[in-house]
Amino acid sequence: MSFVLDGGCLCGAVRFHVNQAPLRTLVCHCTFCQRMTGSSFYANSVFPVEAVEFNDGEVRKYEHTSDGSGKKVYVEFCPTCGTTIGLTFERWPNLRAVSRGCYDNPNAVEIASNIWTRSAQSGVALPAEIDCFAKTRLTPDGQPEHPARYPVPVMAR
Ligand SMILES: [Zn+2]
Ligand SMILES: [Zn+2]
Repeated sequence: MSFVLDGGCLCGAVRFHVNQAPLRTLVCHCTFCQRMTGSSFYANSVFPVEAVEFNDGEVRKYEHTSDGSGKKVYVEFCPTCGTTIGLTFERWPNLRAVSRGCYDNPNAVEIASNIWTRSAQSGVALPAEIDCFAKTRLTPDGQPEHPARYPVPVMAR
C-alpha cells in the first residue's frame, strides 16, 4: 500500500502532500524546539527535501543560527497564521523536518525516538519502550549514541 500524508497550517493557506514514508519521526526536547513552538517539545518527521510537495500558499522563513553547530536552521511558517510548518537546515540540505502537528492525521506516523531528553521540561513524561537519547542520535563524529529504554514512562524534571 502506498503511503500518503497530507497536512497544512491552521488557516489552511499552506498545504502539503507527501507520498512516501518519513525517514524517521521523533520528538525533540531541545531548548530551540521548546522556544520555537512555545511549547514543551516538538514532534516532527524527517523527509528527503524533494519528497514534500507544497501548494502555492506563501511560506516564510526565519533564519536561526544554531548555538551548537554555528549553522543556520530555517524555521518555515505561514505568515498569516504563524503555524510552524517545519524546518530546513544549512547542515543537511537534502532533508526537511515537517511538524507532526500539521498532519491531517498525526497518528499516521509513529514516533520512533525522543531526543534531547536531558532538557525535557518538568511535567513531561518520557515514554516507555521508545529510544530516549539524552542528546542527539549521533555523536558529533557520526557514531550512534546509546539510547535509554524505560520499562515504564519516566517523568522529566
Ligand atoms: Zn496559515
Ligand atoms: Zn530540537
